[in-house]
Amino acid sequence: MSITEKDLEKIVSQVVKNIEDAIGNNNFQISQNPITSKPAAMNLKGVFEGVEAAVGATAEAQKQLMRNYKIEDRQRFINAIRKKALENTEKMSEMGLKETGMGNLKDKIIKHKVVAELTPGTEILETDAYSGDNGLTIEEMAPFGVIGAITPSTNSSETIISNSIAMIAGGNGVVFNPHPSAKNTSNFAVDMINRAIIEEGGPENLVTSVLNPTLDTVDAMIHHPEIKLLCGTGGVQLVKKLLSSGKKAIGAGAGNPPVIVDDTADIPKAAKDILDGATFDNNIPCIAEKEVFVVEGAADDLIYYMLQNGAVMIDRQQTEALMKTILTEKEDVKAASCSGGKPRKTYGAAKQWVGKDAKLILKEIGVAYKEETRCILCEVEGDHPFVMTEMMMPILPIVRVETVEEAIESAKKAEGGNGHSAIMHSKNIDHLTKFAKEIGTTIFVKNAPSYAGIGVGGEGFCSFTIAGPTGEGVTNARSFTRRRRCVLAEGFKIV
Ligand code: NAD
Repeated sequence: MSITEKDLEKIVSQVVKNIEDAIGNNNFQISQNPITSKPAAMNLKGVFEGVEAAVGATAEAQKQLMRNYKIEDRQRFINAIRKKALENTEKMSEMGLKETGMGNLKDKIIKHKVVAELTPGTEILETDAYSGDNGLTIEEMAPFGVIGAITPSTNSSETIISNSIAMIAGGNGVVFNPHPSAKNTSNFAVDMINRAIIEEGGPENLVTSVLNPTLDTVDAMIHHPEIKLLCGTGGVQLVKKLLSSGKKAIGAGAGNPPVIVDDTADIPKAAKDILDGATFDNNIPCIAEKEVFVVEGAADDLIYYMLQNGAVMIDRQQTEALMKTILTEKEDVKAASCSGGKPRKTYGAAKQWVGKDAKLILKEIGVAYKEETRCILCEVEGDHPFVMTEMMMPILPIVRVETVEEAIESAKKAEGGNGHSAIMHSKNIDHLTKFAKEIGTTIFVKNAPSYAGIGVGGEGFCSFTIAGPTGEGVTNARSFTRRRRCVLAEGFKIV
């Protein structure tokens, strides 16, 4: 009898399952090998089967961090995490791409590099001091303890690395609940971070996660008494959930960043910058350009230069076909019952097309493309579903407007009050100021690709957790600390 590779896989898989059943839910893990996806026994450091065990281990590690280590030790651990992350940049990028099927390798490598290099460490913490006749008072940034962090599928290991550096810099431990569809890549990063800390003599399990994250494990994490702060990076539902938890929560939610181009802009540069931002990792970053409002006088030139830069314009019929392919349609019955009208149609992005290459999408709708094609353009009205829906695909709806004022009004509607990111290409200071004030987003980028807003080709530090709804902005170690006052006083003398 001959045994095929398939038979072998089945046998190994059954053996792994038997061992898993026998071990129960302790902190020894058997998991799928995240690289080959073939069943393999593997001990991933910091990855636990249950939330309870993960939180318990991190709570213990965080106590050790406070008792036995100094701030300079935290910085040493962070330096080691940066080093290991840079060594594993390609591996994590490949894993993330393979596991989620979203984005592209070249840009994922850049994303991992910037989080490793540009996420601030302990140097960003500040102590305020007040001294005078009555003594000395200091206010310092102290840890919360154990943070529960929920991470997205779109920047999986990137967010784990960025959050870990910032949270450890603040003196915290962190338990992650990664997105289920990016769990292997995320848990690889958790293991890597633990190894970096342990090799530097630090406590094991300062960073942990769950092997099989689900909505139930999110719930268990939210309600665990040892979790003192929640941090969620993801869509609207996640942020809503965290904000209704009764605990302090940092919510980094959805965006739908509009771009405005006026006729004072450097149009060839604007065209290239917009496409560079909108096609970065196939448009999955929350900050990426999602729709363009261009004043009539600049529109033809902008489109011309976009076509020179790897864009393809589709016509009305092709736009209809594209809509049917990449959007899912639902009827908002609730809104109708409130208004007494007909159910309103709302749209969402069809999951299988999120983060896919422009050429694949064009092929699906039968439109010709070139090797260098990277973005799909279509001209639409300001309230078109492509404008109003956060699609996360390399598709840019272009809306012509008469004036900058009209552009600003339409851009505000498209942004939907998310308060996330917006971009403008203009040399008119009044226009730039007006849009920035009106849209009020956490990130506002002028005359550059959107990613300049997180330190890529722009000044400032990087984070992949941009907390608009709760106000921390582009998060860093300070966001994950609480203020504590320590007073040395003369005492009040009664005369
Ligand atoms: P997602 O909301 O589907 O998932 C994010 C995380 O939340 C996952 O771990 C998921 O399991 C969990 N989750 C989802 N719905 C939940 C619910 N109802 N209750 C509890 N947990 C829930 O998001 P995604 O597809 O992974 O990422 C894309 C979205 O995230 C986009 O909307 C994007 O704009 C946003 N995003 C925002 C930022 C930011 O910094 N503001 C960064 C990255 C992504």
